[in-house]
Amino acid sequence: MNVTVSRELTLSAIDHLYVLVTEEMNLDLPARLRTRIERAIGDSAFEGRSDESITMLAGAPRKITLVGLGKAEALSHRGLRAAIYAVGKTARRQRDKKIGVALCASFPNASLEASTRLAADLVAHSDYKYASYITSAEMKKRGEIACTLVAPASLDRRAVARVAAQSSVLTGAVRTVKDLGNGPGNLVTPTQLAKRAQEVAREAGLKCTVFDKKQIQKLKMGGLLAVNRGSAQEPRFIVMEYVPTGRRPKKTVCLVGKGITFDSGGISLKPGERMEEMKFDMCGAAAVMGTMQAVAKMKLPHRVVGIIPSTENLPSGTAYKPGDIVTTMSGKTIEVVNTDAEGRVILADALTYSTRFKPDHLIDYATLTGACVIALGGAATGLFSTDDELASRLTAAGEEVGERLWRMPVWDDYKDYIKSEWADMKNSGGRAGGAISAAMFLREFVDCPSWAHLDIAGTAWADNETAREAKGATGVGVRATVRFLEELA
Ligand SMILES: [Zn+2]
Repeated sequence: MNVTVSRELTLSAIDHLYVLVTEEMNLDLPARLRTRIERAIGDSAFEGRSDESITMLAGAPRKITLVGLGKAEALSHRGLRAAIYAVGKTARRQRDKKIGVALCASFPNASLEASTRLAADLVAHSDYKYASYITSAEMKKRGEIACTLVAPASLDRRAVARVAAQSSVLTGAVRTVKDLGNGPGNLVTPTQLAKRAQEVAREAGLKCTVFDKKQIQKLKMGGLLAVNRGSAQEPRFIVMEYVPTGRRPKKTVCLVGKGITFDSGGISLKPGERMEEMKFDMCGAAAVMGTMQAVAKMKLPHRVVGIIPSTENLPSGTAYKPGDIVTTMSGKTIEVVNTDAEGRVILADALTYSTRFKPDHLIDYATLTGACVIALGGAATGLFSTDDELASRLTAAGEEVGERLWRMPVWDDYKDYIKSEWADMKNSGGRAGGAISAAMFLREFVDCPSWAHLDIAGTAWADNETAREAKGATGVGVRATVRFLEELA
């Protein structure tokens, strides 16, 4: 959906007006629109309850739908997201071409401006579908819906202009992540991922360097090369760098993203059931790429570096094997006990590489462990950090945009889990505390006092459509990270 944020709405120019409102009926809207909505509410005896939705034929616009949000004090991200998602679905079903959306409520934990920005972004994604390879006539006919989101009347002109500009940047960035995540493994290969990074960089105006296999060998990235050995596709190592122009960057932040474009598990082969979902194993890389796109377009005041190691993980006669010992770029050695714990092996080299930028903060994003999904399900990303302040800032940013982070320990108590008889460490600590021992492994390669690891294995994609989002890649990471970077002094 193409969303424009505006202070006005010409009712005769749209076919369907959607009004999302709480029981308090606080209509913070331009006067004429407000009068029209008050009349619709009066005519329909609408009360704003959370289970209430009334569509009426209205003249100009042809239809008005009133959607209840319940009591304002009980309003949650879940509730508002569900209401917004329902707007997109209804608009599709009813073949609306031009719609207006009046959201008369705010997201919890967010300012009115931030809240309006998030709403515009979510409305834009409310009818998202990855349909590049659906050839039916119906899908070909599917045009884009034009939506005008009416900004709250109490937001001033400048704030509305900011919201309009920034929300479209965020929407584009989240779309980059979703399209890459949903893209199939035969098309989103490491080479293609790197090409996409270059496109994003060109369009957003940032620097992008792509290392091929020879250059990766020169850098002695033994982890990335080991995982790549089973694949016929060359690995890529992608570095995107944004530096603010005309001023000294306030901070340097490195973002590292796991880019396994397909994970079969390698010789430690995964079960066949749902293996197709392993095309999503590059969602960390996609989140970094989308964030870089947004950061450059929003011209944030920090130097931000996105680092993406990318390869497939497949079994073959040349594949790395359980029992192998691998020397990483850092010089540290890894005993491979499970080839399916490959994400951390490639991230090891990327974390080492990040030290050359001397970052103030280092954050990595990875669909790292099934254990994190067992612990937290799909409701929260696992957060592991050596810096309490960074952890609380990231958590607060996440709360504001509806991306929950839940902190897990990185205590030395877990260090024994990855102790190896034959090398400096082994790449899997077994099932118990699996998400934590994976984080402990990463920590061995971190040389930055302020580090956070986000295990997005449960949040990067939805197995099925829910009341709040479509099946497939969710775009998790971008909104929270951008919010964090905006607030970073
Ligand atoms: Zn794996």
